[in-house]
Amino acid sequence: MQNILQEPIEDYLNEKSNNFGGNSLADKFRNQFPQQIEKIIIDKIRFKVIGSPGKGNWTECPWIAILDTLITETPQKGYYPVLLFRSDMTGVYLSLNQGVTDVIENYKREAKSVLKLRAEDFRAKLDIGKTNLVEKIQLHSSTKNAKHYEAGNIIAKFYSSDNLPNNEELRSDILKFLNYYENLTYSDTSFSEEPEYGFEKKQIRLHKRIERNSNISKKVKKIKGYQCEACSMNFRDKYGELGDKYIEAHHLIPISTLGIGKFRVDYKNDFAILCSNCHSMIHRLKDPSDLEQLKKIVLKNFT
Ligand SMILES: [Zn+2]
Ligand SMILES: [Zn+2]
Repeated sequence: MQNILQEPIEDYLNEKSNNFGGNSLADKFRNQFPQQIEKIIIDKIRFKVIGSPGKGNWTECPWIAILDTLITETPQKGYYPVLLFRSDMTGVYLSLNQGVTDVIENYKREAKSVLKLRAEDFRAKLDIGKTNLVEKIQLHSSTKNAKHYEAGNIIAKFYSSDNLPNNEELRSDILKFLNYYENLTYSDTSFSEEPEYGFEKKQIRLHKRIERNSNISKKVKKIKGYQCEACSMNFRDKYGELGDKYIEAHHLIPISTLGIGKFRVDYKNDFAILCSNCHSMIHRLKDPSDLEQLKKIVLKNFT
């Protein structure tokens, strides 16, 4: 796996003077390198590894990103660990960084400041204490993307070209960064924090993140429709146009079994379609995965 770092460091600058189309090193960035990293990830459905030597032409700082699809489906948005090469190939960073394209589009000239602020905020949440990780990275490139990646860096580990890590080190560093990635996700305080029967906060957050992931819920709704499975309420019936295609997806996998690397998506069987009231109520059950019990309660109190 060390070749993921070594080959670009040794060959990228040479290859860059060759044609981009059909170049084998460029192709490795898109296929072989990501596949090698995928091998060390337990949950291959949830995580997606994407590498890029540039689009249409060589980029100055090629990269390979590991995306948690619960956070983002694309490297243009969100945050994720990424191997980022310096343009002069004097080294490579394993960086917990942010998708810059989306921020540039939304904030234009303020984008760099926004990325820096967010990075600071993320760092505060991580609270990693004293390590050999760095807050500032230097990609030795003046391209717009490189400058924004520098601003977006949350934390990074630097590997100098004359001191690359061996397989085991790189593997363990990547796993460490995936762990930071998870911690960041679960320290996200945008979710309400009502205590729910002593599950770990982490697990509740993962549950909510799964439910609030629009890609997942879109697919679930497509399969299951828009009528509450517990009380048969349909928002369209009650609110007309306003309620059209509104419903919530509830993840039925017991929260206590959720954890790192354990999440699998089964759109058909793992979710219930519920109205907002029933969704709140199922979360008050001792076992929020017990849809049958909620149905019974609704039936029993039906007037
Ligand atoms: Zn309902
Ligand atoms: Zn739920």
